[in-house]
Amino acid sequence: MSSDSRKRGSEGAGTGPRTPFLPFTRPTIDEETIQGVVEVLRSGWLATGPNVKKLEAALSEYFGGRPVRTQTSATASLEHALLVAGIGAGDEVITPAMSFVATANVIVRVGARPVFVDVDLDSRNIDFDQVEAAITPRTRAIMPVHFAGLPVDMDRLYALAERHRLRVIEDAAHAIGSVWRGKRIGSFGDLVCFSFHPNKNLTTIEGGCVTGGSPEEVSRLELHRFHGQRKGAADEFDTLFAAGKANLSDVAARVGLGQLASLERFNARRRELAARYFSLWRGDAPLRLPARGDEGHNWHIFAPLLPLDRQRISRAQFIEQMAQRGIGVGVHYAAIHLFTAYRALGYREGQFPTAERIGRETVTLPLFPAMELSDVDRVVEAATDILRRAAK
Ligand SMILES: *Cc1c(COP(=O)(O)O)cnc(C)c1O
Repeated sequence: MSSDSRKRGSEGAGTGPRTPFLPFTRPTIDEETIQGVVEVLRSGWLATGPNVKKLEAALSEYFGGRPVRTQTSATASLEHALLVAGIGAGDEVITPAMSFVATANVIVRVGARPVFVDVDLDSRNIDFDQVEAAITPRTRAIMPVHFAGLPVDMDRLYALAERHRLRVIEDAAHAIGSVWRGKRIGSFGDLVCFSFHPNKNLTTIEGGCVTGGSPEEVSRLELHRFHGQRKGAADEFDTLFAAGKANLSDVAARVGLGQLASLERFNARRRELAARYFSLWRGDAPLRLPARGDEGHNWHIFAPLLPLDRQRISRAQFIEQMAQRGIGVGVHYAAIHLFTAYRALGYREGQFPTAERIGRETVTLPLFPAMELSDVDRVVEAATDILRRAAK
């Protein structure tokens, strides 16, 4: 969907030559970063090297000194975090039915069973009452998602994990720069995983990281991302187990260093844009706005729900009509348990009604740091007009 939007963005399809297509997201890469990448390309060292070390050190500082290890995607970060926590066959991991599918896929990939629970309609975050009810003697971990960058209730999460002796692998793919009670997500807690995909608040093109973990777990993270290999003296190698390969390149790390320097500014801008949506739709929004959170929200996405039962057009038609007006709209996400792979595990429609409703009604409206406040005005005007004309 995003690459499609970007394509349309460059062609300006569906709009006059004067109004460029507004995608729902777009990364901001500054000139300094581009020049830095050129230098890395000229340096002769492209794969994992000094820039990866620098990025891991800078992220570690950002997360209050905790260890950080990067991978080529958050999907790899989450999978490796599960593996170093010792989660595998016969284990159950509790996770929300509403997230990007990677959250559940990694649980299946390590041989464990994803045990879905429903989420809150407005925060999209996991419902802890239902987490409590889903715990069995086989439960080994909880994998919550800080949806859209709104932190889950961390007090409740860690109290629950401690009481039941569960590991926590936080899917913080959305949540870089999000803050809970004055502390950054990633600066405390068990194993916390971030994504650096271009749609996320900080990008390395593709990439991710794990923060936290004991020294033994951190060293196993290094083994998992590079063939299980440990180097001894200059001519000595050993492979401790048959691992895959997921090490970040120095080119990607250099992009991340430039992004990290701008992250607080990017996130402050995202908060301003979100505040603009809320102020323009104060009281009479034609769609259901997401939970507002507080200043600890990093506004990774702005995703209201369409009033499908009160409108004569489908969501696909809404997206199409917005595109005709030069505005990109995303969908984040479909309910995971309804995918073929999860129906095959026995999940059925009706089990997680809130996740299913979000999956049907959610639309992601444009929000990214390079947007102007007037772009928000344009989105609000277009969406309001389309929904007014489509009202039953
Ligand atoms: C993007 C995303 C991931 C996966 O991140 P990649 O870096 O693309 O592998 C996992 N979980 C959630 C909630 C995401 O949004």
